Amino acid sequence: MKSINLTGMAMVLFAVLLSLFVLIGLQLFRFESKVYRQHEIEEVKQQLDERAAALKARIYANIYAVSGVKSLVAMNPDLTQDDFSRAMAVQFREKADLRNIGLARDMVIRFMYPLQGNEAAIGLDYRQQPNQIEAVRLALGLNKIVLAGPVSLVQGGEGLIARIPIRVDDPASGKERFWGFASVVMDMESIFAGAGIRANDGALRISLRGRDAGGPEGEVFWGDASVFARDPVTQTIELPYGSWQLGAIPAAGWSPYPILDAPMMWMYLVVVSAILMFSIVIIILLAKTKKATNTLKKERDLFAEGPVFTIEWRAEPQDRWSMVYVSTNVEQILGYRAADLIDADFCYSSLIHPDDLSRILAELQSNIEAGTDRFEASYRLRTGNGHFVWLYDFTILVRDQAGRVSGMRSYLYDQSAQKYAEEALRLAEARLEKTAYELTENIPIGTYTMVQPADGGMAKFAFMSSRFLELTGLSRAEAVTDTLRAFACVHPDDYDDWVALNAKAFAEQAPFFGETRLLIDGQVRWVTAESFPRTLADGTTVWEGVLADITDRKRAEEALTESLGRFNDLVDHVSVGVYVFWHRGDGQSDFEYVSDGWCSMNQLDREAVLADPNVAVEVIHPEDLAEFKRCNQQAIEDKSQFRWEGRVIVGGVVSHMLIESSPLFFDNGDSRWFGIQQDITERKRAEVLLRETNNALENEIIKRTLVTEELRIKTDLLEKLSRQDALTEIPNRRHFNERAKLEWQRAQRVGLPLSLIMIDIDYFKKYNDHYGHADGDACLKQVARALKACVERPLDLVARYGGEEFVALLPETDRSGAGHLAEQMRAAVEALSIPHADSSVAGVVTLSVGVATHKDGNAKANLSQLQACADQALYRAKHQGRNRVELEATPPEQQTSV
Ligand code: GH3
Ligand code: MG
Ligand code: MG
Repeated sequence: MKSINLTGMAMVLFAVLLSLFVLIGLQLFRFESKVYRQHEIEEVKQQLDERAAALKARIYANIYAVSGVKSLVAMNPDLTQDDFSRAMAVQFREKADLRNIGLARDMVIRFMYPLQGNEAAIGLDYRQQPNQIEAVRLALGLNKIVLAGPVSLVQGGEGLIARIPIRVDDPASGKERFWGFASVVMDMESIFAGAGIRANDGALRISLRGRDAGGPEGEVFWGDASVFARDPVTQTIELPYGSWQLGAIPAAGWSPYPILDAPMMWMYLVVVSAILMFSIVIIILLAKTKKATNTLKKERDLFAEGPVFTIEWRAEPQDRWSMVYVSTNVEQILGYRAADLIDADFCYSSLIHPDDLSRILAELQSNIEAGTDRFEASYRLRTGNGHFVWLYDFTILVRDQAGRVSGMRSYLYDQSAQKYAEEALRLAEARLEKTAYELTENIPIGTYTMVQPADGGMAKFAFMSSRFLELTGLSRAEAVTDTLRAFACVHPDDYDDWVALNAKAFAEQAPFFGETRLLIDGQVRWVTAESFPRTLADGTTVWEGVLADITDRKRAEEALTESLGRFNDLVDHVSVGVYVFWHRGDGQSDFEYVSDGWCSMNQLDREAVLADPNVAVEVIHPEDLAEFKRCNQQAIEDKSQFRWEGRVIVGGVVSHMLIESSPLFFDNGDSRWFGIQQDITERKRAEVLLRETNNALENEIIKRTLVTEELRIKTDLLEKLSRQDALTEIPNRRHFNERAKLEWQRAQRVGLPLSLIMIDIDYFKKYNDHYGHADGDACLKQVARALKACVERPLDLVARYGGEEFVALLPETDRSGAGHLAEQMRAAVEALSIPHADSSVAGVVTLSVGVATHKDGNAKANLSQLQACADQALYRAKHQGRNRVELEATPPEQQTSV
């Protein structure tokens, strides 16, 4: 269900209300200000009216005073200056504002009053006065008194001029006719003062506009012109012709509405504030209520979805309990509906595991009796699907005034997972402990634990692994009893230092590391001991330590030191210089080591070279420097050995040096070069001598070699010739004999078989006889070629044995192999199909072949015997009809006929 947002609505309402109040307030303020201003205007108007009336009266009084001049003219057609002066004197005496009056007949001034000082004006023709003629004509045209000005007066101040047109009756026509006009000058300041008008009289500030009676559109001619720009109260003064306008504002200007003095506004503000405050309070209350409701809802939701459910119990008589309330989430936790549990017939204890029930009831009883108000319990409960789960139960006992338990509230959750985890952890810990123990006992270093009392005194052994006891030769009992006794295994020479070192660590409780010798059964062993302190809550410190046997390492170190010493001795005594040089990945370089020999060879100071490697380069001969650098660069690039032969200049003497060094490259690009430098000046000299001698010898040798070569070629030829048959160009009997001897010996040595084939052309005598000796020779050549073509192995040899007999020597060939080859030879010659008309066995040239083999179960005493056997086989072949192969007779069981 969607809840209505009351707070939001109240806020909107509040905003509307606030706007309304502000609008009303503004409206009220505007109205009040208007009324107030109206009141002020009325006051100003009243005062202005009075002043305007006074001013108008004064002006009109002055004009009327002199307007009698019209009758004067009408009655005295022959008016003189004197008459005029006399008449005007009376008027001027009464009216202080009048300054002078001129009387013009037609357009020319005839009379003046007072004349004195104005004589010059007599005779002034207005038609000649462009600045006055317009005004004059206006007055005459209108036949009205026209007021002009103000104008500046000659005698000072501002004056107003009234022009009064004068018409007289013309007896002739019986009509009025224009006679002239009077021009009266009045003192303006005097008029205003007389009317009681001042520019600022403390009450009003007044200005006038309408110069030359121009009305509201006319120019401001009196007072402060700015008054008309400030909303003045105005009053018009109607003049005989035209008007003036008076404008007035209060002397201090219009005053703003004194809002703070207005009780009306105050009342309004108070009422509005009260309403608004009330609204705010309501909104806050609403918001708080909403927040509280939300919190409550959130708590309820959190709880309802959470794993904790609650049960409220009521104590019934006879130690019985009834459930008053069960939170609804019990259904998803245990699978029971809350309503079913509350049912009066339902018995909660029937769900508790039988093994836990009596314990839980006893715990409840004891807590009630002990007076505790809350307790925890853990038991198994059957869920809706019949399984048991472990429940954690936090119960609060509710007591009445008398302290009797009236009910209880239980908070419960399923802690099965936790229980199982605890069990698993317990098993894992047990296993870990077992493993740790086995590990400790099996690693090749000894472990131990020492416990130091809280007062910081000497620690005692609490645990020692078997290996520790083995290394120290201690028994567990004696080590535990007395720590210092346990130190007795330490070598006497190290004992004091060792005890002091331990005492210091125990005092400072800082990690301990030490190396010492132990003396056990007369044997010296080196060990390191390392331990770390860990202070427990009660102040005792536990030291976990390891003891390692480093005797082998120590021995190796000693051996190394000894070997290093030998190396140094060696380096110091050999005549070569030795150095170790670093070439860094960033191009820098430096010497790590230079031997004494190297220093003296180059006459360089070790410190100087170690500080700056360039010092060593300076001794190199300038002409060889480039090559030196090139070799260097090449070796670095190729990561190969550096080798340079060249000259150095040491102490002004040039000597030859050989420098060789081998690198060791590292991943970061650095390389370490182990080098030796050797003075080879003497060798160089000897080399030069040797070279010269060599050259001479070489020349001689070349000469001799040429002769020898010639001889060798000839000898070779002879040799070759002596071993080859001239007719067939295959090896001759001599060659065969030599090879046969060698192969016989080899066969004896390596125990491999050796076979021999004897070949004889059938009826060759007859061939010769029939075809002639030349054809006989040609036939022999053909047969030789065919036989040679049959052998493939490089060790096999086919030779002409003599006449028409051939022989084949077959090393590493057994009886059957030789038999096969023999048959091949026979067949090959037969296949040549050389015609032999007189042969009794075939129409072509054929062979008889005998084969014998050494070894193969038929060892011979010597080479002759092998040859004899082959001969015998050949004899048999002849005897048995020719054109066939016969193997030697023995052994009988292996005899094979091909
Ligand atoms: P058999 O079948 O019993 O071997 O009869 P044969 O005639 O071949 O045997 P015999 O040894 O009686 O004759 C060999 C003949 O080979 C004798 C000789 O005339 C001939 N002879 C030996 N050397 C040469 C030679 O270099 N050239 C020529 N053309 N004939 C030769
Ligand atoms: Mg023969
Ligand atoms: Mg023959």
